[in-house]
Amino acid sequence: MVMNTDAATFELTDVIRVFREVDVETIALRGVDLSIAPGEFVAVTGRSGSGKSTLLSLMAGADRPTAGRVAFRGVDLGRLEDRERDELRGSEIGIVFQAQNLFSMLTLRENVELAARLAGRTIASEEAVAQLEAVGLAARAEHRPESLSGGEQQRGALACILAARPSVLLGDEITGELDTHSADAVLDVVERLRDESGTTVLLATHDARVARRADRVLQLRDGRVVHDGTERQ
Ligand code: ADP
Ligand code: MG
Repeated sequence: MVMNTDAATFELTDVIRVFREVDVETIALRGVDLSIAPGEFVAVTGRSGSGKSTLLSLMAGADRPTAGRVAFRGVDLGRLEDRERDELRGSEIGIVFQAQNLFSMLTLRENVELAARLAGRTIASEEAVAQLEAVGLAARAEHRPESLSGGEQQRGALACILAARPSVLLGDEITGELDTHSADAVLDVVERLRDESGTTVLLATHDARVARRADRVLQLRDGRVVHDGTERQ
């Protein structure tokens, strides 16, 4: 897979996604065009049902558009073999979705260590614990996911992503279940990842605090981008 490092991180061209069920058809995205540059921190906002999660899934290569093109560094994700897309997800694109998947038979610390290893980095236990500390979970390092709350599992998944140091972080409502203090702490961590590693960050969110901290806000309505702007001008 040949990627073009001069290309935009993501380039979406007239992306349409239609979900067809037996008797209903839902148009989740109605022609989205956008370009995301390396190192941008973008908040994707909009009401429930506006298409945020669909957009992120397409960028993650977890779903294919019904029409149009989703390119990651110049590579059309729709044209990749499943294996190539899986590789990309493992090494370049870190994803934190609403439904979290930590390995249930591993402790949080082991999950963080494994996430780093799968991304090609071997880390010491101390570093894994440090990543958990950054998301406020150091005291839970030896716990398994099942004994944690939904919000804690989500922060645990974020610690895994931080340990993997992806070049892209896609997050779906990652602060949704958190109180103000924890949400700010998580956003601090995300910002630090961007500043230190140049990670491109896209966060789908209902949360005005997330939008305020982003460089750019994309607002969706009924599957269209209705606002695309730099909030901090
Ligand atoms: P948001 O994340 O902004 O709440 P979504 O992207 O989840 O919005 O959904 C956009 C629209 O697509 C909604 O109308 C939703 O019901 C529909 N949708 C999303 N996923 C599916 C699916 N797998 N099957 C059918 N409809 C779907
Ligand atoms: Mg959603």
